[in-house]
Amino acid sequence: MNLFEIVFWLAMVAEMVIRAPINKKRKVEAMSRQQVTRQEKTLLVLLLLGMFIFPLVYSATSWLDFANYSLPTWAGWTGVLVMAGAIFVFWRSHADLGLNWSPSLEIREKHELITRGIYGLIRHPMYASQWLWVIAQPLLLQNWLAGFANLILFIPFYILRVQAEEQMMLETFGASYQEYMQKTGRVFPKIGGNL
Ligand code: SAH
Repeated sequence: MNLFEIVFWLAMVAEMVIRAPINKKRKVEAMSRQQVTRQEKTLLVLLLLGMFIFPLVYSATSWLDFANYSLPTWAGWTGVLVMAGAIFVFWRSHADLGLNWSPSLEIREKHELITRGIYGLIRHPMYASQWLWVIAQPLLLQNWLAGFANLILFIPFYILRVQAEEQMMLETFGASYQEYMQKTGRVFPKIGGNL
């Protein structure tokens, strides 16, 4: 395993460590709405394939070696920086969203609309962090399959998920979410805005 592959797997461990305590606590939460459709399940399985299964096969076997490419060292280091950004944003998102986080579309009985911290800047910091991750991945794992599968699979996930999630949030929080939408961007902060 080369240095950049090691960084990729350390990032994976970092995300698991950040998420584990929240995942454990939320299991006992009562949910008032669950929207886990077949589309949603399919998208999550595809994401797992791109983020974990392809990289695992790449690192643990030589089966994907035919699709390797080689980038200059500075590109690998750019990947390290982008990945560090992804982990930072992931950590802040979990810190601010707390028990309102869920792997698929859910509203808990005590759900609170979070508009503070990183959610005061953008509505989807966790997906922003995933964008950074899918950009870093082909710089760290220099293989057409293991590097790019996640990016390719994340695009449909992002488009469909954000649409369904914002719809659900609007139905749940109505005017408060509408007002929140006016003040924030999806993954880029709204610059200027109405202050
Ligand atoms: N889209 C967000 C959250 C991803 S987790 C992000 O990228 O950071 C998905 C769950 O988060 C959804 O089921 C929804 O219930 C919850 N959620 C999304 N935005 C929220 C907000 N501003 N406040 C509280 N919960 C939110």
